[in-house]
Amino acid sequence: MIIQYIVGTSAEEHRAVRAKLEGWGFRVQENPGEKGASPEEQILVDNVFGQVKDEHRREVAGFDCVRQVIPIEGVPQNLALIRHGTRQTVSVPSPAGGKPVRIGGGNPLVVMAGVCAVDADYTLPSHQMAKRAGADLNRGGAFKPRTSPYDFQGMKEDGLKVLTEARARVGLPIVSEVLDVRDIDLFMKYDVDVLQIGTRNAQNFELLIEVGKTGKPVLYKRGFSNSIDESLKAANYIMEQGNEGLMFCLRGVKGIGHSFRSQGDLDEIVYLSQTIGRPIVYDVSHSSGKKSAVEGIGNMAAAGGADAILLDVHVAPEHALVDGFQAIDSEAVLARMIGTWRRLSELVRAGHEESGARASAD
Ligand code: PEP
Ligand code: MN
Repeated sequence: MIIQYIVGTSAEEHRAVRAKLEGWGFRVQENPGEKGASPEEQILVDNVFGQVKDEHRREVAGFDCVRQVIPIEGVPQNLALIRHGTRQTVSVPSPAGGKPVRIGGGNPLVVMAGVCAVDADYTLPSHQMAKRAGADLNRGGAFKPRTSPYDFQGMKEDGLKVLTEARARVGLPIVSEVLDVRDIDLFMKYDVDVLQIGTRNAQNFELLIEVGKTGKPVLYKRGFSNSIDESLKAANYIMEQGNEGLMFCLRGVKGIGHSFRSQGDLDEIVYLSQTIGRPIVYDVSHSSGKKSAVEGIGNMAAAGGADAILLDVHVAPEHALVDGFQAIDSEAVLARMIGTWRRLSELVRAGHEESGARASAD
């Protein structure tokens, strides 16, 4: 729940409410006050985290200094848009020491492109191609979650070496998937910029907790058999560790009789942008599994309001160690699709701003 206090609440009155909340075992985070209000009119706000029930809310509402109690428990607590009122931005520092990449919060659409699985020969040229075509981050898996134990499992530490050597040459931050708690130290050693939680680990709560504790930005993918509610609750484990770098990634789900690798969940972009404040990423490659579908699905994601698009690219897909069939291999095609996605995203946002301005003028 969120507690708004009446203007002029004394420290003593506030302490009494806090003591009650903490006595129930809740975590309380004080908010400096509502934006734009002068210090005299500042509304003190407490964010309360925990298993809040109706009787708790009723009792808190009974304090004279409490202006309003806003229930929030329907939406995973740290992610809820209502907590901040505005969509949040995640900043990923640039390895080249330039401007950080800013994702979400109304920033221009971000593109994360790179190889599915890191390989020795093609990762660097693939990541260079992605950068030339306009990508903002490079992705690449050194540890691969494979359905069969006989399939290539990733280059592991050697893959992280290749990936970070490529980063030094290309200059874009990198995203890479952590499969296991035991590997986190390695990701920290190589200073991977964004830690990815793959769909198969979406409910590996211990991994979510430990990845959250690193303080690194996290690209959390929805579990392909999880409802949105289950995925948002799981993602909340990451933020509960004090991690403000969570990005929520949709990548399609197991479905019935769909035409692509996964059943697309594009409509959730619209729902999520109205309910959570976190950046929303759409993975157009793992949702579609088809090179020819990537552009069209990306168009829908951009127009639907995604903050970032994630995709597989490879300069020689026939040699790709994993998922070559869905990788974009042409720089010209990639540049064109990224350009279209950015224009669509701007167009839709400009429309929102215009209708927002009109609504407030009405
Ligand atoms: C990936 O991004 O390489 C990947 C394995 O994706 P997912 O977890 O969505 O299948
Ligand atoms: Mn893949």
